[in-house]
Amino acid sequence: MSGRETIVVIGAGVLGLSTALCIQHHLEFTQSILLVARDFPADTSVNYASPWAGAHYRPVPGSSPQALKEANQAQRTYDFFKHVSAHEPGSGIEFVQGIEHLEAPPPEYLDKQSVQNVYSHLDGFRALQKEELPAGVKWGVQYGTYVVNSPVYCAHLLRKFVLKGGEVRQYTLANLKEAFSLATNVRTVVNCSGTGIEDLKSFIIRGQTCLVRNPVSQTITRQNTDGSWSFCIPRPLDGGTIIGGTKELNNWDPNPSPETRQRLLANATKWFPFTSESGGKFDVIRDIVGRRPAREGGMRIEAEKLADDRYIVHGYGAGGRGFELSRGVAEDIVALMLEKRLLRAKALL
Ligand SMILES: Cc1cc2nc3c(=O)[nH]c(=O)nc-3n(C[C@H](O)[C@H](O)[C@H](O)COP(=O)(O)OP(=O)(O)OC[C@H]3O[C@@H](n4cnc5c(N)ncnc54)[C@H](O)[C@@H]3O)c2cc1C
Repeated sequence: MSGRETIVVIGAGVLGLSTALCIQHHLEFTQSILLVARDFPADTSVNYASPWAGAHYRPVPGSSPQALKEANQAQRTYDFFKHVSAHEPGSGIEFVQGIEHLEAPPPEYLDKQSVQNVYSHLDGFRALQKEELPAGVKWGVQYGTYVVNSPVYCAHLLRKFVLKGGEVRQYTLANLKEAFSLATNVRTVVNCSGTGIEDLKSFIIRGQTCLVRNPVSQTITRQNTDGSWSFCIPRPLDGGTIIGGTKELNNWDPNPSPETRQRLLANATKWFPFTSESGGKFDVIRDIVGRRPAREGGMRIEAEKLADDRYIVHGYGAGGRGFELSRGVAEDIVALMLEKRLLRAKALL
């Protein structure tokens, strides 16, 4: 292929934006990059997951290859976010104390190695002693973690991408191949579309949370005996607090349920230390409903070679962990592109 080449990235969620920024670092002067998406950070579609995320980082214990791979991506993202929060104050990322209280810990939480695999890298990580646990709680930990004001962080990434010369286009693709026709000389399309656009293994996990004005200074997660989870996540830059949350597989209801809101807030009153000036009442900003883009078998990170020597590099299906894995996934996608010689290696500054 001769002449200037354009790399097309599909998706302006946290994965598309993080990946596009990583790709930009490796572009040669004969290459440019175009980010194409149906939704951008100011949009509020229920099908655009990123602006609805809490978001905080809470490790997921496990010893399966998938769990270990995600643990590695999460660890790299943690280190990267530490750097971002220290150097880019407007990014919407802040480090706070994280606490977990589990009433009925699943087996992987009781397996020392599984816990070690995913928690040991966290600043100040320690298991809580029996006498430190609230009534009814069987397992607890505390550590330093980050919280993200998700729409602010996505807008921050988009701004950086544009400042570095990236082009953007709002467009809804009918299929993946169409992306090759959106610019001249497209050899590589990077598919960070959340659900993959054409993947039958993709499914959604509905999440309902409630954004309130009441402040908290920690992110606390509590697992209840009935298997449900409660959490509070402070949103940096005075963004309020997210009270969560549900995980409902294949539930396509776009409307918030008032009963769910009531249950989430009632649990939050019991378990989370909101300051007394709120008088036990919540100042609700809005209900949130979003669809986590999940995939059977986990995320797809794969370079698909087409018959005409073009490539679709896939990076989607992050489910409930898109922010936590974002930098690691972006690096893994770029590593694949380097391996296939779709980009040239350059030292990271
Ligand atoms: C309530 C809730 C709480 C969450 N909490 C957390 C948390 O605490 N921590 C965490 O890490 N994650 C959390 N998540 C999950 C997180 O939001 C997702 O994993 C993440 O946003 C996925 O990012 P993405 O870029 O893959 O997809 P998306 O953000 O959905 O972006 C997909 C992009 O592809 C574009 N696109 C799709 N189809 C087309 C098409 N046909 N043509 C053009 N463009 C297209 C979309 O417009 C969009 O720009 C939460 C999610 C929800 C809903």
